[in-house]
Amino acid sequence: MISSDPLRVLKEVFGYDSFRDGQREIVDHVSSGADALVLMPTGGGKSLCYQIPALVRDGVGVVVSPLIALMQDQVDALRHAGVRAGFLNSTQDPDQRRTVEAQFVAGELDLLYLAPERLRLESTYRLLDRGTVSLFAIDEAHCVSQWGHDFRPDYLALSQLHERWPGVPRIALTATATRQTHEEIATRLGLEAAKHFVASFDRPNIQYRIVAKREPRAQLLELLRTEHSGDCGIVYCATRKAVEETAEFLTRNTITALPYHAGLDSTTRARHQARFLREDGLVMVATIAFGMGIDKPDVRFVAHLDLPKSIESYYQETGRAGRDGLPSTAWLAYGLQDVVQQRKLIDGSDGDAAHRRRLATHLDAMLALCETVECRRARLLAYFGQHSDRCGNCDTCLTPPRSWDGTVAAQKLLSTVVRLRRERGQKFGAGQLIDILRGKKTARVLQHGHDSLSVFGVGIDLGESEWRAVVRQLLAAGLLAVEGEYGALVTTEASDEVLYRGRAVPLRAEPERRARSGGDRAG
Ligand code: ADP
Ligand code: ZN
Repeated sequence: MISSDPLRVLKEVFGYDSFRDGQREIVDHVSSGADALVLMPTGGGKSLCYQIPALVRDGVGVVVSPLIALMQDQVDALRHAGVRAGFLNSTQDPDQRRTVEAQFVAGELDLLYLAPERLRLESTYRLLDRGTVSLFAIDEAHCVSQWGHDFRPDYLALSQLHERWPGVPRIALTATATRQTHEEIATRLGLEAAKHFVASFDRPNIQYRIVAKREPRAQLLELLRTEHSGDCGIVYCATRKAVEETAEFLTRNTITALPYHAGLDSTTRARHQARFLREDGLVMVATIAFGMGIDKPDVRFVAHLDLPKSIESYYQETGRAGRDGLPSTAWLAYGLQDVVQQRKLIDGSDGDAAHRRRLATHLDAMLALCETVECRRARLLAYFGQHSDRCGNCDTCLTPPRSWDGTVAAQKLLSTVVRLRRERGQKFGAGQLIDILRGKKTARVLQHGHDSLSVFGVGIDLGESEWRAVVRQLLAAGLLAVEGEYGALVTTEASDEVLYRGRAVPLRAEPERRARSGGDRAG
């Protein structure tokens, strides 16, 4: 034990003057021996929330983390600060492991980092029995969620910790928590009774902008030249090829850019990463393989040339900008091709139908963010269950997009959902609803006799993709919800406002619509 006073530990060990918003409460709560579930954005300062209680309490704090590649760095940094830290993972040889295990048993560690796959081994549990554990910290706790995209089966074993060591406090932490994930973490880890700490996910210094993709590289170059000349930034591309080509393109245009993707050998990757961290004004062009654990404060922009696969990814990737709190840009170019491409990927992906539907739902939420006529920040935060007023620092706030009055379309769609339920006791997904609205006599429509519904064909004025945009945007606005494994659409309480109380539904115009009406303003 270094000191029993958290503030002294903060100052003397970590060299910081004060706790950030929320940290103190969490530290006190866990130090007192209680369980916690912490939702805090990337860069918010989660590590101290378990590191300080581990130092304040007797025994060794055991940290389960899937970021094996970062363990050595984390442990080195802690040791540098005078904290006795060690780790156990598959990169070590048996001798190295034995040394750490002996230190743990002898109580010569303050913190022990464990890779999740260690939890598969009974020997790990026997080891833990031989030492004194001060707390269990479960980092990246969303990995326990099958709903999310980082699911790790090994995380399911974490529920055993509480069964075997009921007296040891647990703190689960994550930066990616929608309401569903949040609930799933609580259930699967048996943390329902734990106190939940939810930090604000707002990053006010990041300006969010999403533009229509025309010539992405030229658009990017213009952004860099006009607004981010000489700045350090990250450009994300979906494929290795796009990474290489974009890095070359920028270099040809006198911008210092380096590629980073899993296809490069590890020395090159390490070299590029080191240059990015060290040099000023370097642009890293990368796949999403780059960025986890990168803590560079002055990244001035994060640009996406391809659509992220979920809002969580988008939030996490853009969150690497502006950690120093200074104005920064999150810029995304997206086009119809992205949607087609991602749908194809989803359809061709491994896993069962339920898995594919989850991926599709994630994608739809991301698309809805692209299409919103509302403040991007407000929508982004709403996805994480948080509120924001119009922010004044995103593209839709700064230059309000064209919108069309989707009220009647929304009413048609919602009343179809309601009628199917009331008159037939049925629920259906978007495809069937759109076929009904557009009056298509498909085999499935005829089989269910849906052509005799009074709403059959009332939506012929809109095309199928326009209807899909309506569906996506209603989902995004919470005026419609997805239920169950089969992606059935159901109404929400808010739907009633549209159906019965005249609530207006403004929708962002589809790019085609804008083109037809001749009003395509630069994105
Ligand atoms: P997270 O795990 O939430 O992404 P970290 O724990 O890595 O965030 O912290 C992000 C950065 O903020 C780190 O550089 C960390 O040292 C710094 N930090 C955390 N808490 C404080 C604090 N109270 N005062 C100053 N800097 C802090
Ligand atoms: Zn805004």
